[in-house]
Amino acid sequence: MKKRILITGGAGFLGSHLCERLLEQENEIICADNLFTGRKQNIAHLLDHPNFEFIRHDITDPIRVEVDQIYNLACPASPPHYQYNAIKTIKTSVLGAINVLGLARRLQARVFQASTSEIYGDPEVHPQPESYWGHVNTIGPRSCYDEGKRVAETLFFDYHRQNGVDIRVVRIFNTYGPRMLPDDGRVVSNFIVQALKGNDITIYGDGQQTRSFCYVDDLISGFIKFMETDDFTGPVNIGNPGEFTMLELAELVLQKVGGKSKIVFRPLPADDPKQRQPDISLAKQRLGWEPKIPLSEGLDRTIAYFAQLLAGPAAKQPR
Ligand code: NAD
Ligand code: UDP
Repeated sequence: MKKRILITGGAGFLGSHLCERLLEQENEIICADNLFTGRKQNIAHLLDHPNFEFIRHDITDPIRVEVDQIYNLACPASPPHYQYNAIKTIKTSVLGAINVLGLARRLQARVFQASTSEIYGDPEVHPQPESYWGHVNTIGPRSCYDEGKRVAETLFFDYHRQNGVDIRVVRIFNTYGPRMLPDDGRVVSNFIVQALKGNDITIYGDGQQTRSFCYVDDLISGFIKFMETDDFTGPVNIGNPGEFTMLELAELVLQKVGGKSKIVFRPLPADDPKQRQPDISLAKQRLGWEPKIPLSEGLDRTIAYFAQLLAGPAAKQPR
């Protein structure tokens, strides 16, 4: 049945794909975003759609709309962006959660929280199941993001226990794909853009740290399956268990793009997790979900996107 759905952070990388997919399913979408890391360009093709509405709104302020469901994605996700104004980042996670939960309570709407694998910190359990409580520094440069997301999870579960709010909490592992910003700072976009420009590929540390990369289309399918599942609040991990070192990723990107880039090594940022891989048994069992697109295929699609972006006038457009 057609629903009215609010998506906070809907002009960002993941949010714009979610808006698109939910519109295809004939829902009405309200996209609320302050355009900090999101771009109108990401949703430009949706603006004329009769079922799509964009509101420039900061989620640290309450929002009043009438909807059946809420997806809360508003929060910068790349370390350079979330560390740019650390206090704002933690306010976005905490006040944003309070505002969407208050709205969901009033409307009796189902509400989804985009949590993160970062709540596991630098994990001592590998791969990470949902039952692992994590290993997070409370006072480091990543803490504004990690702890903000942890408090948001706590708020979601307290509103659920205390006020019966119908929550869905997903822990997202590293995701990549078209519409990441070329200057985003995350590793997949950095390596691809560096390789396409023939610049050095910057590996932080010795490149032996690992991440597990999920292609955006797979992730969005998991979000929607979860939101459509009754009697399951999560938290649930959504990600691709294929685990790679950053050196392996750099070599794969170089091999695909070709060109004259060299691999160079730069200092490892503080508190950078050494390893990360989702245990997705729960998602398989409760949602019947697992990723389908392997890294090699997802990289081909993402390289094609950035190649086109860097070649075209869109590359020079302001955000
Ligand atoms: P993104 O930076 O592209 O998108 C975030 C969006 O939120 C942007 O459009 C931004 O303008 C908006 N925003 C930021 N602060 C806001 C505020 N105060 N009010 C309103 N809008 C605000 O990042 P993304 O990768 O699309 O991430 C989306 C969500 O998923 C985030 O909550 C992030 O923490 C979570 N997540 C993403 C990943 C990933 O690998 N992409 C991994 C774990 C969690
Ligand atoms: N990284 C890197 N070179 C870059 C950007 C990132 O080697 O140009 C490393 C980073 O130190 C981390 C991994 O790649 O170990 C993933 O970084 P990203 O910011 O994409 O995600 P997160 O650390 O938040 O998982």
